[in-house]
Amino acid sequence: MKCDKDVVNLMHGYLDDDLTKEDETKLRNHLEDCEACQKHFHELKRSITLLKSVEQVKAPENFTKQVMQNLPTEKKHKKYV
Ligand SMILES: [Zn+2]
Repeated sequence: MKCDKDVVNLMHGYLDDDLTKEDETKLRNHLEDCEACQKHFHELKRSITLLKSVEQVKAPENFTKQVMQNLPTEKKHKKYV
């Protein structure tokens, strides 16, 4: 199975809650076989969850500052994992 734009489109569709059952199955099948897309999908989901949580919280004033402070630490972790 190859990774083409379709797969990425399906991911976005899935995250927008915009997929037919058929497309969803197609996406799931591909993700099961394809580690690269699994990773990509995981990253996508993570950023979207992050965005959504920011939206919902309606951030307190120092929220952005806190996020910024947390960023460098997270990056450091990533490097070593
Ligand atoms: Zn793939």
